[in-house]
Amino acid sequence: MPRPKVLATRPLFPAAQKILNANCEVDYWTLPERISKEELFRRIQDKDGLVCLLTEKVNEELLAAAPKLRIAANVAVGYDNITVADCTKRRVVATNTPGVLDETTADFAWTLLMAVARRLGEGEALARSGEWKGWDLDQLVGADVWGKTIGLVGFGRIGRAVARRAAGFQMKVIYYDSVRVPLDVERGFHAEFRDLSALLHEADFVSVHVPLLPETAGLFNAKTFSQMKPTAFLINTSRGPVIDEEALVEALESKTIAGAALDVYEKEPVIHPGLKRPNVVLAPHIASASLETRTKMACMAAENVVALFKGQRPPNILNPEVLKAN
Ligand code: NAD
Repeated sequence: MPRPKVLATRPLFPAAQKILNANCEVDYWTLPERISKEELFRRIQDKDGLVCLLTEKVNEELLAAAPKLRIAANVAVGYDNITVADCTKRRVVATNTPGVLDETTADFAWTLLMAVARRLGEGEALARSGEWKGWDLDQLVGADVWGKTIGLVGFGRIGRAVARRAAGFQMKVIYYDSVRVPLDVERGFHAEFRDLSALLHEADFVSVHVPLLPETAGLFNAKTFSQMKPTAFLINTSRGPVIDEEALVEALESKTIAGAALDVYEKEPVIHPGLKRPNVVLAPHIASASLETRTKMACMAAENVVALFKGQRPPNILNPEVLKAN
């Protein structure tokens, strides 16, 4: 039996390579630059499987160039780069990596929150600049974190992991989600439900944890910013297009809100020039980027691919109807 042919658009990590190589013939894209669309379309032609990143679009155009493809395994929990309906139509299994990155991503949401509240970016730049003249009473005074109210928009796996950490800062936790969780779950997280408008009026820190969907694109816009406190900070580790960046720049310029800390952007890797200001902390989409977690994500994607080719159900299948139809 010939081994299934798989394209991996990155070398992945040794542990994930081990899983894939034991079961498949793998073509790894190893050059430092990202695989071009032309190269991706050329290499995918004879492949049975694909391990891809959120920077690659898996849609009808790609699938049409991949007649043998049976699985597209995303190395990410968010899968807005995959048009799942197109995959289903062509009976291609799509998978993601839920669960393994919750704690690491939550850690990073807190990293951003603390950095923007306590002006770490400005402080770090000053400390490195040679211009620092020593301690001063009103130097880089920021906002307290402890004892404040954090508002979570999206209360799924990552939103809840962020909520758990708030207890250590003696913070009040409020959340908004399109699905309200049962009362006992709310109590377990010491979290109270609010509708979005009430949450925005009340929170000192608004941290965003919704997936990018047609309903969440532009969820943060001029209207939602106008409902936030002028002392409030926005933290986004979800997906860039959830925030209308033009409106965010306007809200920052007009002091409608106090600041923002961002890991993701509308048009990555381009960052709106209006966001490059002292009261905005900018990170290059690294919320899940610990070695442990990225290794787990790559292994999970590899396991999804191998499961399918062994005739099993991939554990993180997004379109199980593809298997039922077979
Ligand atoms: P999840 O599915 O567990 O939680 C998402 C929550 O959002 C759910 O509770 C859902 O009910 C809610 N939701 C969906 N649509 C909504 C709407 N219109 N209004 C309000 N709530 C809505 O997902 P998760 O694992 O917590 O991940 C959340 C997102 O974070 C991912 O989809 C991904 O895009 C992003 N993410 C980014 C990074 C990063 O590197 N920056 C890392 C991990 C995840």
